[in-house]
Amino acid sequence: MSDCLFCKIIQGEIPADRVYEDDDVLAFKDIHPKAPTHVLVIPKAHYSTFSDMDDAAVMGRFMCAVQHVADGVLQLQSGFRIVINVRAGGGQEVFHLHAHILGGKKLPF
Ligand code: AMP
Ligand code: ZN
Repeated sequence: MSDCLFCKIIQGEIPADRVYEDDDVLAFKDIHPKAPTHVLVIPKAHYSTFSDMDDAAVMGRFMCAVQHVADGVLQLQSGFRIVINVRAGGGQEVFHLHAHILGGKKLPF
């Protein structure tokens, strides 16, 4: 997707503070962090939103990567929150599927 911000980050056309990458996913720090640790995990394949994800294998690798980033890379032992905003009504602003990992403090509900 040539006009997609996160596809441009994957391609290296826009810089990002990368924390993890493999063949299927990329994780990088959110530019406007809402917690001491705030990382976005995205599949490298473009899916506009969560509800467009139609491949169980890709979804499985994506969620395993979220787990690996939160527990293994970021070492958020005390806990964290995973948020996926779905479409505009769910607060989604960037239309490339992404999971927010939030942690580093006791999170309010
Ligand atoms: P959402 O509202 O779920 O679509 O979240 C989009 C997130 O992307 C927001 O938390 C933004 O702060 C973040 N964001 C937007 N542009 C960038 C960027 N260039 N690098 C890192 N994070 C970004
Ligand atoms: Zn994209």
